[in-house]
Amino acid sequence: MKTTNTEPGILNKLRARGYKLTPQRRAVVRALATSDRHMTPAQVHTATREERDDVGLVTVYRTIRMLAELGLVCEISTDGHQRSYLLRRPPEHHHHLVCSSCGCVVDFVSSDVERLQSRLARETGFRIDGHIVEFVGCCAQCRSSAPSPEVVHRQRGIA
Ligand SMILES: [Zn+2]
Ligand SMILES: [Zn+2]
Ligand SMILES: [Zn+2]
Repeated sequence: MKTTNTEPGILNKLRARGYKLTPQRRAVVRALATSDRHMTPAQVHTATREERDDVGLVTVYRTIRMLAELGLVCEISTDGHQRSYLLRRPPEHHHHLVCSSCGCVVDFVSSDVERLQSRLARETGFRIDGHIVEFVGCCAQCRSSAPSPEVVHRQRGIA
C-alpha cells in the first residue's frame, strides 16, 4: 500500500489550507511522520522534545486536531481510555492491526468488512453511518523477538 502522507506532503497540504506552519507545529508533524507507532498526545509531546523544548501540550493537541480535521491522521482507540494517533498512510478507507507490545500499526483494506456492514444494515434495519475496526495483537517482529508465553511459563515454573 503506498504511503501518500509524507512529512513534506502534509506540510504542503497545511500550507495550501492557509495554516501557519510554525516551528512548533512542524515539530509535531515531524514527530508523527517519523513514527510507525500510534502515539498519545503526551507521547507526541515527549517526541517533540528531541527537537525543541518550546512545544506546549496545548499546541500538540491543537495540531493533532487540525490534522484530524483534514483527514491526515488516523485515530487508534485500542487503549480504551485514551485515544492515540498516527499519520494517515492509505488515503482510502481502511482499518488497522495494532500491536499491543510495540504499538506499530499495519493498515489494511477489506471488502469483507464493508460487506458485513451492508449485511448488518439490511438485517437489522439500522442506518449505519460508519465503523471502526481494529485488530489487536502482537506483530510478527515482536513475536519473533519475545519468548512465547509457553516459554515464559516454563521458565517461571523452574524458578
Ligand atoms: Zn490508518
Ligand atoms: Zn510489535
Ligand atoms: Zn471499513
